[in-house]
Amino acid sequence: MQLLEERIRRDGVVREGNVLKVDSFLNHQLDITLLAEMGKEFERLFHNCGINKILTIEASGIGVACITAQYFGCPVVFAKKSKTSNLAPDVWTARVHSFTHGNDSDIFVSRQYLTDRDKVLIIDDFLANGEALRGLISLCEQAGAQVVGAGICIEKAFQPGGEQIRSMGCRVESLARIKSMSPDGIEFC
Ligand code: 5GP
Repeated sequence: MQLLEERIRRDGVVREGNVLKVDSFLNHQLDITLLAEMGKEFERLFHNCGINKILTIEASGIGVACITAQYFGCPVVFAKKSKTSNLAPDVWTARVHSFTHGNDSDIFVSRQYLTDRDKVLIIDDFLANGEALRGLISLCEQAGAQVVGAGICIEKAFQPGGEQIRSMGCRVESLARIKSMSPDGIEFC
């Protein structure tokens, strides 16, 4: 998506450890006009798939998931992160390693909000090693929900998550795919 690529080139900051900071429009301050264009694009890609629920993970997926849900007319469920492993019995849960924080956390969704009646579009801001996405897919599998696909804002295609998850048979659509990045510049696929 050209608009997003241009914005990443203009405002993205490449940090050490293969981290791209996009705080000015996606991860801290939210550019709602841009998010709406991304939401429309996800709707164009997945519009005839019968999606009745969008699933994301707190915190940075929530904004774009909510804007996208307006175009699908469906609710958003976000997986919560738990600091303790003392989870309630009525949740689906998975352990996820955080790329940016370097720690593990248990993520969970109430069984009430993810069921075998759901056709799910997973939305997230970044795809790197695929940990977050695999965790969200696992929650859907536990619930018996159908994963229609995943809509990712920024995929760092030089990291293995996208390829691994596509090879599992999951449809992954990324609006911007980064081939390589360094403080000198960003190259898209
Ligand atoms: P993965 O689980 O695929 O390794 O990483 C995806 C998750 O880590 C996303 O939910 C995102 O919050 C975070 N993440 C991964 N790479 C980056 C990055 O380069 N920049 C930012 N801001 N977040 C990232």
